[in-house]
This record gives sequence, C-alpha cells and structure tokens, in this order.
Amino acid sequence: MNDIESEKNRALEEHHAKFSCSHDTQQLRKRIVAGGSEQYVLQCLTCGWAACQPIKKEKAFQINGGEDFTPYDETLHEQWNARKNEEKNRIDREYNAKRAKKETESYKNYSKYLKSQEWKRKREKVIARANGLCEGCLENPAEVVHHLNYDHVGSEFLFELVALCELCHNRLHDNKGSNGG
Ligand SMILES: [Zn+2]
Ligand SMILES: [Zn+2]
Ligand SMILES: [Zn+2]
Repeated sequence: MNDIESEKNRALEEHHAKFSCSHDTQQLRKRIVAGGSEQYVLQCLTCGWAACQPIKKEKAFQINGGEDFTPYDETLHEQWNARKNEEKNRIDREYNAKRAKKETESYKNYSKYLKSQEWKRKREKVIARANGLCEGCLENPAEVVHHLNYDHVGSEFLFELVALCELCHNRLHDNKGSNGG
C-alpha cells in the first residue's frame, strides 16, 4: 500500500471514530409518533439516536419534574448523517486530488527521464544488443525501446528493456492496454 492509501485509511478510521457516537448526553423528550400519539423517549443530543423503548407517561413526568418536555428533534439524526456523509465525501475528494497530483508528477518525471542522456545511452545499448533489429519480429529496424515492467524505472536492468519496431510496439500495447514507454 502506498503513502496516500495508508494516509486515507487513517483519515477514514478517524472519521469512523468521530461518528461512532457513545450517546453520552441523552435527554428525555416528548415525541409525536405516527397517528399523533405521544411517546416519551431518550434522545441522544449528539447524534439524534433515540432509545427504541419508550418510557411510561407517569414515569416520564416524574423524571422530567412536570409536563414541560423538550420536543423530540426529528432532524437531529438527519443532520448528523449529513455531516457524516459530507466529511466522508470531503476525505474522498481530498485523496482523489492527491492521487491525481502524484500521477501527474510521476508522469512528468518519467517524461523528463526519457529525455535524459542516461536513458539515451541505455536505449542505444539495447538497440545495439538487438543488432538494430526489432526483438519482436527480427525483421524491421528497431525504433522504440519498450519497458517490460516499471519496477526499476531510472535504474532499469537492460533485460527489462526490449527494442521494437513501431508495429510490434503498437501490437504489444494494444494487448496490454497500457501506454507506457
Ligand atoms: Zn449518540
Ligand atoms: Zn517488430
Ligand atoms: Zn512500450
């Protein structure tokens, strides 16, 4: 796993912890349920969670010290979920942007490398090894030097590079669906 992915995983863990409510602050509230009847339930003031078991009216009045109840807030849980989703989306956006930036940078570095003297020398050696012929067909002149893998870009083993003609190179890339060098 690369740095960006593990950083993102940490951010997601933090997000998960932040939105795992322990319902520490609860208040007894009056809720009007479907059909218009009244229920007395504990609502978490942080996330809007409600205890599924309502409290009996007499008991609720006793606890509350009268009939003056705070109304149950139906929007609290939606607000909490909206914040939770919004922050999750923000994390996704942030790390997508980081990933894109990194890809652009490595692409720039790679293009720069392909213009370097170092690459030019390697390229010449590989073409000389193939006696100037394409190693794909041994018929056409070698025109491109292709990476069999990108494990050691910048310090390739020369057996990781092959000399190819355009035709063979295109055929190889069509099959692989990549667009590297
Ligand atoms: Zn809660
Ligand atoms: Zn060829
Ligand atoms: Zn290639």
